[in-house]
Amino acid sequence: MAAQLLDGKVMSDALRAEIAQKVAALKEKGVTPGLAVILVGEDPASQIYVRNKGIGCEQTGMHSVTIRMPEETTQQELEGQIRALNNDPAIHGILVQLPLPRHLDEAAALAVIVPEKDVDGFHVQNAGKLLNGLNGVVACTPKGALEMIRRTGVSLSGKEAVVVGRSNIVGKPMAVLLLQENCTVTVCHSRTADLAAHTRRADVLVAAVGKAKFITADMVKPGAIVIDVGINRVDGKVVGDVDFENVKEVAAWITPVPGGVGRMTITMLLQNTLEAAERTLA
Ligand code: NDP
Repeated sequence: MAAQLLDGKVMSDALRAEIAQKVAALKEKGVTPGLAVILVGEDPASQIYVRNKGIGCEQTGMHSVTIRMPEETTQQELEGQIRALNNDPAIHGILVQLPLPRHLDEAAALAVIVPEKDVDGFHVQNAGKLLNGLNGVVACTPKGALEMIRRTGVSLSGKEAVVVGRSNIVGKPMAVLLLQENCTVTVCHSRTADLAAHTRRADVLVAAVGKAKFITADMVKPGAIVIDVGINRVDGKVVGDVDFENVKEVAAWITPVPGGVGRMTITMLLQNTLEAAERTLA
């Protein structure tokens, strides 16, 4: 039986309509949520992501600024720009588009963003809050993926969740979020022995690997919720980490690529920016 589609576009449209209403209410109180995106260099994929973030801001009535810096920008110049945005009251969210050119230190740059404006949720303070179950900014991709899982309506308590990938921006925070939902969580990575033995146990399977069609149908438990975070370019086409055509015959729920987690990630960025603006009134 074919799986039900978890459509990131449909979910995002509904969520963005709610966000737009909240933005309008905030504007009546004199605050327009503002997002600043810093783009260093000319990476083509980054250009697309940045454009989509601007479109999201426009759709929801937010103020958005894109700061384009040349490839040869120095660490000092980049950090100076971030500090200026930290002090700009019209900006509630700051995002440094990754990857940065190789000569720049990503971790050092991200650490300069004040945690209240870290709408990507990458700052160690926000990552630490998540780990400790405290209120902070949650990274957009795992936050969006969890929202999609929740919208299946399936009770998560006691379920086996397997996350493939352990990056700081996707795999690890995803595992923590699923733990908070009372799933029993396994995190797999490149050194995991017999990966398929783990994935086949998963009621919820999240793939964040970065390898096209890596999760095949024989690795999936019948009836599973399958969340595909991967974005891979193959012959000019964007494909996920999951072999969608075959896995959809086994899973009960599945996200498409494109039109799945990627779309929700930007929606969560808008949500985080809105919440950052709301906190300035609290
Ligand atoms: P990273 O490269 O940082 O992490 C990849 C993870 O996959 C690592 O933990 C790695 O293990 C693991 N891995 C690699 N090979 C294997 C293997 N053979 N078996 C099991 N695990 C393996 O990537 P990200 O987490 O940043 O991103 C993952 C994917 O998600 C990418 O395709 C990226 O483009 C996409 N992405 C999508 C977003 C969206 O908005 N939809 C946002 C962010 C990312 P190890 O740690 O041992 O090296």
